Amino acid sequence: MEQQRSINIINSSFLVGIPLLALISVVFYSLEYGISWIEPIIFVTFYLASGLSITAGYHRLFSHRTHKAAWPMRLFYALFGAAAFQNSAIKWCSDHRRHHLKTDEEEDPYSVKKGFMWAHMGWVMVDQGEEIVEHVEDLQEDRILAWQDRHIFLIGFLVGIVLPGIVGFLIIGGIHGFLGGLIYGGFLRIVIVHHATFLINSAAHTWGTQPYSTTNTSRDSPLLSFFTFGEGYHNFHHTFQADYRNGHKWYHWDPSKWWIKVASWFGMTKDLHRIPKKSIESQRMKTAFENNSDAEQVSNELQDKLAQCIQQLRKGFSELMKRRDEYKAAKLERKKESKEAWRRRKESHKARIKQCKVIIAQARLEFKHLMQSLKINDSATVAAV
Ligand SMILES: [Zn+2]
Ligand SMILES: [Zn+2]
Repeated sequence: MEQQRSINIINSSFLVGIPLLALISVVFYSLEYGISWIEPIIFVTFYLASGLSITAGYHRLFSHRTHKAAWPMRLFYALFGAAAFQNSAIKWCSDHRRHHLKTDEEEDPYSVKKGFMWAHMGWVMVDQGEEIVEHVEDLQEDRILAWQDRHIFLIGFLVGIVLPGIVGFLIIGGIHGFLGGLIYGGFLRIVIVHHATFLINSAAHTWGTQPYSTTNTSRDSPLLSFFTFGEGYHNFHHTFQADYRNGHKWYHWDPSKWWIKVASWFGMTKDLHRIPKKSIESQRMKTAFENNSDAEQVSNELQDKLAQCIQQLRKGFSELMKRRDEYKAAKLERKKESKEAWRRRKESHKARIKQCKVIIAQARLEFKHLMQSLKINDSATVAAV
């Protein structure tokens, strides 16, 4: 049945009005007062607080339960998440969980299949019948989130608009300072955080690579990660949504994962969930194989080879973990041994670890050969045609 759709006046006015207000007020403020180094600092501080509250808080903690967080952390996310003006955590997560459950389908609230601009912001500007809030019972039981949901606009107004004004008033002074904080830490910052978040639903479902899955439109875009606190690795995220990281390699630009990790050193977060390396790499192998082969024409022999590579890779990683744990345990016991005995034992531990790395390297090499043979098969088919 076709749903009744009409323009949501409040959301539309806000989404169109706030960039205009930010632009006009920045021009007015610059002409009237110029700019010092304090306004950009207020902007960055509020950008970090509200941006991380969306990515690490609303997204990775509340929506996906990738880790646990102490109440001060949850309160921080509730306050500054409200300041991002993206609705309450409960409603945001309801939409987001549906987005993962029904990606690209009719029920996906921000399906990119309905157009880039629809996924970006159109879906917020249109009433899509009765508001559905579902699959968030766990969040409704959290007293901080239930309180935030009840007072979302008041909290947003106080923390996202009044507070930056007060900060400006206290640091710069007078009406000049209040306006500086309000405009840079409030209006302009809201616009930038809005569109950075919106780009995950639009751009990260349009441009980029698909190393882990091609079953939906999500894509990895390291470039996007630079201004979205690491959320650009979206193909990885859609494939492994239980992982607290979106950029899983240490060098992937993912400030949200670093924030969550550093918070764990202070006891503010715990139980950080990571998908094992063997699962990530074998998924990558499967996807590369599927992308380079025609599912109907590829022989059983090649399929078997892929299965062998994956099996060997997983075995290598499992053994490696065990050997490393043994080595760690042995290190704790070393004081009981003579220097010479420890030296010999250390060498044997290192040799066993090396053996595991050789198994992994062999699996990778065999996979490389498999991919080359797929390409040869492919060009032979083309030549035959
Ligand atoms: Zn997600
Ligand atoms: Zn997505």
